[in-house]
Amino acid sequence: MGIVVAIDGPAGSGKSSTAKEVAKRLGFTYVDTGAMYRAITLLTIRRKISPENSEQVVSLAELIDIRFRWENGNLRTLLNGEDVSDEIRSAEVAQAVSPVSAIAGVREIMVKRQREMSSENNIVMEGRDIGTNVFPKADFKFYVTADVEVRAMRRIGDYQKIGQNLSWEEIVEEIKKRDRIDSSRTHSPLKKADDAIVIDTTHLTFEEQVEKIIEIVKNRPEMVR
Ligand code: C5P
Repeated sequence: MGIVVAIDGPAGSGKSSTAKEVAKRLGFTYVDTGAMYRAITLLTIRRKISPENSEQVVSLAELIDIRFRWENGNLRTLLNGEDVSDEIRSAEVAQAVSPVSAIAGVREIMVKRQREMSSENNIVMEGRDIGTNVFPKADFKFYVTADVEVRAMRRIGDYQKIGQNLSWEEIVEEIKKRDRIDSSRTHSPLKKADDAIVIDTTHLTFEEQVEKIIEIVKNRPEMVR
């Protein structure tokens, strides 16, 4: 098993961009588990399957193939071979993803795949339950957070990149709702692991967030294996 750096936190906390850069600088494989839940959600939307119909959603999750591929410095998400990287970032998927990822059977399937990814590689994996559930014995655990207003501000640009113009207010609503569902679900809710190091990025620049994590990782004996 490789070295595992687990990065969890609420929506828009900056953990994706931070985790990606940390992985790059450490030479580790980056895994975006949110993209996996978004991909299965996209498929439920396309097939018009309601998350209430959990059995059907789980059957779908069992069959799908989700892969990541780097292309010109960008991480692409492939769903059954189709590049869905932009589509999974849409407001429609963001609104639907929390109920889908609250389904126990969906989580079981995703978590199994996530654990397999660490068998041969050193990884930086980000999500909601990585340090609490997927890898409770991760070598490093971080919980990245920020004030909701700042998180919403950062998301505006993400939506603009895929041609969706959402207002700051709409985004605040979306991430508050998502955090509420993600934190209150029965199965592996969003929660800081007791032994996770908290990084509050409200007043940090991107470079500072990355540096903080890199410094902690590099200064620990686990890295001298
Ligand atoms: O990180 P991102 O915002 O892309 O995650 C999208 C959604 O996927 C979250 O709001 C959450 O419902 C779900 N998720 C999860 N467990 C993870 C990662 C994401 O439930 N490990």
